[in-house]
Amino acid sequence: MSEYPEPSGLPDLENLASLANEMFQALPNAAPFFAGISGLQAAPNAGGHPAARPQAGVTSAPPPMTSPAVERHASAAPNYYFAENANQYPLAPIHLEQLISQVEQTAAQVSPQAFGLPGEADLRELLGENRFVTQAPAAATRPAAPDLKVPHALESHVGNYHQPQSVGSDRVAAQSLHLPGESDIQQLLAAEFSVTRFDAPASAATPAPDSRFYFLDSGAQPVFGNTLKTNVFAAEQQGFDVNAIRRDFPILAERVNGKPLVWFDNAATTHKPKVVIDRISYFYEHENSNIHRAAHELAARATDAYEGARNKVAKFINARSADDIIFVRGTTEGINLIANTFGKQRVGEGDEIIVSQLEHHANIVPWYLLAQRVGAKIRVIPVDDNGQILLDEYRKLINSRTKIISVTQVSNALGTVTPIKEIIDIGHSFGVPVIVDGAQSVSHMRVNVQALDADFFVFSGHKIFGPTGIGVVYGKAEHLQHLEPWQGGGNMIADVTFERVVFQGAPNRFEAGTGNIADAVGLGAALDYVDRVGIERIARYEHDLLDYATHRLRPIPGVRIIGTAADKASVLSFTLAGYKTEEVGAELNREGIAVRSGHHCAQPILRRFGVEATVRPSFAFYNTCEEIDLFISVVQRLASARRN
Ligand code: PLP
Repeated sequence: MSEYPEPSGLPDLENLASLANEMFQALPNAAPFFAGISGLQAAPNAGGHPAARPQAGVTSAPPPMTSPAVERHASAAPNYYFAENANQYPLAPIHLEQLISQVEQTAAQVSPQAFGLPGEADLRELLGENRFVTQAPAAATRPAAPDLKVPHALESHVGNYHQPQSVGSDRVAAQSLHLPGESDIQQLLAAEFSVTRFDAPASAATPAPDSRFYFLDSGAQPVFGNTLKTNVFAAEQQGFDVNAIRRDFPILAERVNGKPLVWFDNAATTHKPKVVIDRISYFYEHENSNIHRAAHELAARATDAYEGARNKVAKFINARSADDIIFVRGTTEGINLIANTFGKQRVGEGDEIIVSQLEHHANIVPWYLLAQRVGAKIRVIPVDDNGQILLDEYRKLINSRTKIISVTQVSNALGTVTPIKEIIDIGHSFGVPVIVDGAQSVSHMRVNVQALDADFFVFSGHKIFGPTGIGVVYGKAEHLQHLEPWQGGGNMIADVTFERVVFQGAPNRFEAGTGNIADAVGLGAALDYVDRVGIERIARYEHDLLDYATHRLRPIPGVRIIGTAADKASVLSFTLAGYKTEEVGAELNREGIAVRSGHHCAQPILRRFGVEATVRPSFAFYNTCEEIDLFISVVQRLASARRN
């Protein structure tokens, strides 16, 4: 820090830069915005992770961690402060105090406010918000990084820079006083908003979702009704800022064939916001370890992060307990797990398994394999010409041989939203458990597994803005506790001899071996992100996009929309006369537009409509009407150049 004061009597750039960095270092993933910063001190981490638990056979708590690795972590990452125990919380690094006293001295000489710049009170207020972690964490958790108050507080100072700054008649540029100017602060805010918006790993007290990032605080709900583009714009005026959201997804700035990427393949996979990408990087940079098995610091961090993610999943779908959440690779593995445990236990020769005609192959093939193995039969709920489940036909299929019903909540090929609550209630009225494939629903609508009374609910992280290779099986405790494991190995046992193996309870007994730890943590960050945007707002906005696209696509000559259910989610499936679906896909790709063309791993439902393939644009809340316009213009061009 340079010698103080500058001739103007104000703190110099380096001092303020240090201050700014202190504040931003208090947040995760802060970047050094000003040059010349040195000597930032992290709170010492002498006591080890509070969550480091004794392992089986270790009678006393492990000694404090003082390994070089732990210390390196502390000095490398001042973003997070680790307490010696849950009650001792870090103070700000010493030189913040020095800076305050310098500002106090300065105040006697010159009033910063005279320049319209942040003054002592402002600095105190800013520092006060972040000098102490005010919320004592629960035992066995790592402290949350301080909340996101700094940018909000700092925002008010940006306003000051917008005012004409004058001393006498002369406008004084902040920079001429060696202070950060408006653009510096704007940059800090912009970078902060797009970079660091993930909450602390393994936070016990997860901050309430902060919708202020994207939505007005008025509580006014957008009014949606008809299908005009202006509805979306109206929604934006009322707080849904799709451009702000788009900035959170780095890949949306990508160009394809020289054109801006338009991602309409969201039913296949979704893109990841920067917070998710950063969260995974943070894991590998600061927490990476195997879990559950060691008494060392990083094992505790990784375990906290992983189990924290399990808690987030439980909260997101309103499971009764995190113990009801099993991490798997994705929906496919989840349904295979259920078929090989619950299915194996319940289904025998001559029994029946009910699925619907809408199912993805992932909800057909595992049941087919089970049925083949045990000599059971698959029965199929038909759909009407709009692609809607025929509930009466469903009722007729259920009988005393029906052992399992497994149905999707949203069809990936048509977009149909099924009446899953009725399907579950009807199944239960016959005493049959119901499994829900939530792969296509969980990112588009509020899922409450307890309200649905689903016996199992399965989804994939990559379809809800999280990483690939991670997914979730929710199961009712009453089922999970009676199920045999399906894979054996480490992590899922309590005791092993050559004669006898004692398994862990759920969920560990279903997570043999080393799981996808980092991506589970990334999934937790994705769910937090969706929470912050607000799933109901997402649903309304996407519904509007779908309506808009449907109304623009339908009149185009030669277009046949497949799947016209009254209740649909974000998927538009169609064919264009005179073109193979892959030709339409290729032409769209030339314009940078990504859609799926093919059978969408749902051949039975496409064949129900007499086709083998469709073109399938599918939308997410980062898509826009302008993108739909572009897509429509390509289809129109193809339609008008049609070869018959
Ligand atoms: N179920 C549905 C309805 C799907 O749409 C998908 C994927 O598209 C799956 C299951 C399989 O998901 P995953 O490939 O992530 O296992």
